[in-house]
Amino acid sequence: MSTKPLLELESFAVSYGPVEAVHQIALTVGEGEIVTVIGPNGAGKSTLLNAIMGLLPSSGELRLDGQGIARPTVEGMVAREVGLVPEKRELFGEMSVEDNLLLGGFARWRRGQRDQKARMAEVFKLFPRLEERRAQLSATLSGGERQMLAIGRALMARPRLLMLDEPSLGLAPLIVREVFNIVASLRNMGVSVLLVEQNARAALQVADRGYVLEMGAVALSGQARDLLHDRRVIETYLGVGGKKAA
Ligand code: ATP
Repeated sequence: MSTKPLLELESFAVSYGPVEAVHQIALTVGEGEIVTVIGPNGAGKSTLLNAIMGLLPSSGELRLDGQGIARPTVEGMVAREVGLVPEKRELFGEMSVEDNLLLGGFARWRRGQRDQKARMAEVFKLFPRLEERRAQLSATLSGGERQMLAIGRALMARPRLLMLDEPSLGLAPLIVREVFNIVASLRNMGVSVLLVEQNARAALQVADRGYVLEMGAVALSGQARDLLHDRRVIETYLGVGGKKAA
């Protein structure tokens, strides 16, 4: 990693009651970096993101900008400009696209930062399709549009670190490509990205660095282009199934 570290985890562990799901992880996301965590179902990828966001209790060290955070909470992480787009997107179906976006900017508004119009213009520039559908109820959007809205809503909070949980899940290949192009363009907006994906090929193609998570532990990590050529990664994650998925 050549940039300044933004997020650092050391001996980071997460348990569900007595069962530890994520074991003693070390992970870094540098400023302006796109880092991906790949791995099979149940490896602990969502658990990891949810714990970083403060949705689950964790142990070990979590630092943002070099500053240790003893007990991450969602409010605290939002205030520190960290955002999460959860796997289930969690949009408000009975609300319009525009209202969902405004809610994403609410914490900023409450802090007195009244730049929601400018933020929304930025989001519409990135996702012109959302602007066309700004009055539409979000429940009636297509899967790809919902994913775009979920990312757009998170961007309304102007995060420095955006965590994405399987943004390609359930999307058609062409839309997957569109979503990954957008992930790549987030870097130019000054947003660092921690991307959890089962679509290993597409994730490694867009990322700078990657971690392979297996049974709650880091099995392998390195530059994304090196992982794309790693025999073990190819055999396990980029085989025929991986190609199809990509
Ligand atoms: P997927 O790609 O299928 O979402 P994942 O890598 O994100 O998988 P997690 O959902 O983080 O994996 O799950 C990691 C482990 O923690 C699994 O063994 C899962 O059964 C367990 N787990 C997840 N949520 C809970 C929960 N609420 N209570 C108890 N165990 C859980």
